[in-house]
Amino acid sequence: MRLLFISTLFLISCNTNKIVPENSLQKPKNIILLIGDGMGLAQITAGLYSNNNFLNIERFQIIGLHKNYSFDNLVTDSAAGATAFSCGVKTYNGAIGVDSDTISLKTILEEASEQGLKTGLVASSSITHATPASFAAHNKSRSNYEEISIDMVDSGTDIMIGGGKNYFNKRTIDNRDLYAELKSSGYTISDYSIQDFQNVDFNNIGDKFVYLTADGEPTSFDKGRKYLVPASERAIEFLNTKSKGKGFFMMIEGSQIDWAGHDNDFEFMISEMKEFDQVVKVALDYAEKDGNTLVIMTADHETGGLSINTGSELDSLVAKFTTTSHTAVMIPVFAYGPGAESFSGIYENTAIYSKMRKALRLDIEKN
Ligand SMILES: [Zn+2]
Repeated sequence: MRLLFISTLFLISCNTNKIVPENSLQKPKNIILLIGDGMGLAQITAGLYSNNNFLNIERFQIIGLHKNYSFDNLVTDSAAGATAFSCGVKTYNGAIGVDSDTISLKTILEEASEQGLKTGLVASSSITHATPASFAAHNKSRSNYEEISIDMVDSGTDIMIGGGKNYFNKRTIDNRDLYAELKSSGYTISDYSIQDFQNVDFNNIGDKFVYLTADGEPTSFDKGRKYLVPASERAIEFLNTKSKGKGFFMMIEGSQIDWAGHDNDFEFMISEMKEFDQVVKVALDYAEKDGNTLVIMTADHETGGLSINTGSELDSLVAKFTTTSHTAVMIPVFAYGPGAESFSGIYENTAIYSKMRKALRLDIEKN
């Protein structure tokens, strides 16, 4: 009896502690999901101290943590990690938009598109790489880039920006020229030059755009890849123009924070972090002005087991990587804008899918 009393009290106090009831959450029109691949708290901290103790990330209002283990491994990879965000399931490492039985699942981007929202994917990797692919493709293996590129074309994603042009027009599994197919299905295509892309008048072109930034994987920021920030800004502008107030869903990935972690290259990691923070600035500036945009920033997992050690000073960090692989530490989630409140707390990575879906009312439209 006493136990029952205590547990009843506990339930009451849990309820009264709930800061925002789910049904009173504000609903955004647009979602911008920012994924810093391999970006754990130590990467953010190192980026912050290496940038005069300020990052735009500090402008987010709500912070949570997600548990990122996959279906078959406590340490996830980017494919299973992104599929958790895009489809809301824990799947095996290497899976692109499919469940643990390799069955295709509808992604949040595909659902948003069906409901009349415009959609976009921007990455500093190839557009067929695990993270962007998991939002628009379905494949049992992340390494089937040429098969994935067919799905990317078929997905009808309104704007796609990233490398990997060769997977579209220099193919080995068939003779298709997906580059030409994109054109004939109404895409405006811009390649290589960010200047070209910046000069396009969106009012004078169709509703679909592809900007392929490199034949294979784009180079790193410190070796001259400069498109991620301006292309993100233009992609938001494109979706804002083309959605005509009906809303959009987009995912932007800072892909190479992860690659720097695998390389255990601290300077490489810092330059990618600083660039990604400028993407955060672009997204938050837009959201502030717009008032109807929910911005979420997170990572799929941490890479490199980075630690910041004794002897560090603000402008001179003593940092050490402990592995060249991913790690299983929980990952911070930052949110800004209408609906941001639901991202506080500790939850599974798959909950990010359901929270975004709820925010866009896709759960209501669907059922
Ligand atoms: Zn990785």
